[in-house]
Amino acid sequence: MEPWRYRSLPIGGRFRPRRSLRRSGGGLVRYLAGVAAPALAFLDDEGEEVLLDADEAAALLALTDNLDAATVSACPTCRSRIVAVVALVDVLGEAPPFSRSSELVELADDAPTLHLYVRDLTTRCVHHAWRDPGYDEWREAIDDLVDS
Ligand SMILES: [Zn+2]
Repeated sequence: MEPWRYRSLPIGGRFRPRRSLRRSGGGLVRYLAGVAAPALAFLDDEGEEVLLDADEAAALLALTDNLDAATVSACPTCRSRIVAVVALVDVLGEAPPFSRSSELVELADDAPTLHLYVRDLTTRCVHHAWRDPGYDEWREAIDDLVDS
């Protein structure tokens, strides 16, 4: 199956989630004919985004040991987390080949801050158990991007 992509976007274009896609509370529209639903979103502080479908997300996490080496702070009960851009590029460089690596590296290289925000789109987790200060940074970043 073709991975979910925003093919209509120009190279370097910006994608901001449309309001209509946001209402389901973290659950983007789950089933779209013929395309896999996005499962994991990587966002930078300006809203640039790379979306992975469920298979891609699982592959990425398997190939990178759950992104542990790049994770700054993470929800203990879902896959939402903050990753450090420099470490992410290193981790992807050391991992076995992954189909979306170059897009993630590009996102990381172009990120305006040192962190990328990973949002698990497949969970209803409200991150109650994510108690370190990273959660506030993540929440603030996601809120800004989703509500602006
Ligand atoms: Zn969570």
